[in-house]
Amino acid sequence: MRIGVLAVQGAFREHIEALRRCGCAVFEVRKKEELESVDGLVIPGGESTTIGKLISDFGLADVIRERAKHGMPVFGTCAGAVLLAKEIIGSEQPTLGLMDIRVRRNAYGRQVDSFEADLEVPVLGSDPFPGVFIRAPLIEEVGADAEVLATYKQGIVLVRQGKMLAATFHPELTSDLRLHHYFLSFFEN
Ligand code: GLN
Repeated sequence: MRIGVLAVQGAFREHIEALRRCGCAVFEVRKKEELESVDGLVIPGGESTTIGKLISDFGLADVIRERAKHGMPVFGTCAGAVLLAKEIIGSEQPTLGLMDIRVRRNAYGRQVDSFEADLEVPVLGSDPFPGVFIRAPLIEEVGADAEVLATYKQGIVLVRQGKMLAATFHPELTSDLRLHHYFLSFFEN
């Protein structure tokens, strides 16, 4: 199994490291050919406006959409989750629009725009997952096909839809690999 990490901007190195520690073959993706050679894709955190613009300019956005529609697993964290959303509240920025979720960028305000919180994530077992939130978005609403996997203070922070996963926090900045392993389980069957 070959996992690609979109490497145009943002925290891609940390995802590559985490996936390697999970035992995967991991590849940086910047070009269409690189995207075509992987079985799944991680879209890291960073700046969603920048990543969105670059993937449109490089012609990657259409390929990601097409492959995801045909079942390629995709995992977006933070800015990556913003890019997966069908709707970004108050913004016309380019998005992949693959998941039936509505997100608000930078939802936690300036003073607390970065924080850590223990999250209850039942699909990962009973131990809390360390949530690292950095100028994080919030998922305000999900459609019928999307499943909420975790909330924090009544806001939605982790959603699955088919083989796509969106986290508003940064699992790659912790040593806890459970969410990466959970994503890798999408490749079974
Ligand atoms: N605030 C950023 C955005 O909306 C996301 C921050 C992050 O990925 N850590 O693009």
